[in-house]
Amino acid sequence: MDMNTIEAVVRTTDPAQWRDGDAWLAGGTVLFSYGSYAFGPQPLTRLLDLGGAGWTPITVTDDGTELAATCTIAELYALPDSPEVSGRAWPALDLVRACCDSFVASFKIWNMSTVGGNLCTSLPAGPVISLCAGLDGTATILAPDGTSRLVPVADFITGDATNCLAPGELLRSVHLPASALASRVAFRRLSLSNLGRSGALLIGRLDGGTSLILTVTAATRRPVQLRFDGVPEADRLAAALDDAIPAALYHDDIHGLPAWRRDMTYRLAEEIRAELSAPEGAHDIPVSGDFWPPRAVSAQTGPTTLSKGA
Ligand SMILES: Cc1cc2nc3c(=O)[nH]c(=O)nc-3n(C[C@H](O)[C@H](O)[C@H](O)COP(=O)(O)OP(=O)(O)OC[C@H]3O[C@@H](n4cnc5c(N)ncnc54)[C@H](O)[C@@H]3O)c2cc1C
Repeated sequence: MDMNTIEAVVRTTDPAQWRDGDAWLAGGTVLFSYGSYAFGPQPLTRLLDLGGAGWTPITVTDDGTELAATCTIAELYALPDSPEVSGRAWPALDLVRACCDSFVASFKIWNMSTVGGNLCTSLPAGPVISLCAGLDGTATILAPDGTSRLVPVADFITGDATNCLAPGELLRSVHLPASALASRVAFRRLSLSNLGRSGALLIGRLDGGTSLILTVTAATRRPVQLRFDGVPEADRLAAALDDAIPAALYHDDIHGLPAWRRDMTYRLAEEIRAELSAPEGAHDIPVSGDFWPPRAVSAQTGPTTLSKGA
């Protein structure tokens, strides 16, 4: 895409430099695909390039993991093998590769596109959104007036390609808390076609070994989280989904009709409930329809599960 309306590319991470007609430039895989006219009523005139930010892509501490907005998908994918996390009892790190693999990404996108770019593009099928919302990530946002604020990633996305950023605000990082990383997790994803974009991506987490947190993404226009004190019975889970997701919240595009996404949400939620109700490892025996590794799986061949190989 020739962005011939761009008059300047400014290397900065300072939101105070932002003015109308600007866009933050991270990996550029969306900006250079969609062009200057796709981001508002006026064409873009400047790109504020985060390429020189120099932010450490991933910082691991006892409190959890901080993902810089400029961390690439390739860097994120490497996290489970990094020395920083070795020896830590963080089983939820299994979600990192499952989510990265949900990205139907070419070599270019894998190595260039960023955590922040994925969140700020705010597509329902954003796999970094699924990961960070499913792990109760908190986004740090820097404003042009020098202030900053924290927003749960589940609330950061407000709809299909919309989010809570005000003009000029910069997503700096996402914090994934150690408590969530220490949880047992279950992952399910469906796509209408092999190597297709996610039509439904659900993550279950068992906090403290008892409380179920279910995060629905891709099927819905924005992430939806359900929290239970324990693991509910099947009918209570279905009723909670009824209450939390009105028909209009199911996403509708070429990657899946809302009715299909709704049916798959109930099906995958029940699978996650059953998996996390059972003793750990009970799902390690292959069952009909299961599939590993976690790549796109068609509705005909069954769900992706995390339990095998995890
Ligand atoms: C062939 C193809 C397939 C794709 N498949 C998928 C898919 O399956 N799922 C999916 O979610 N996306 C997909 N995408 C879209 C895109 O590649 C990803 O969303 C990617 O993660 C965007 O990251 P980026 O760093 O390249 O963003 P950029 O293109 O640099 O930026 C995207 C948007 O986010 C803003 N932005 C970037 N960083 C920040 C920041 N730190 N703070 C504030 N605003 C910021 C930019 O101003 C711009 O509006 C696909 C794209 C292509 C071309």
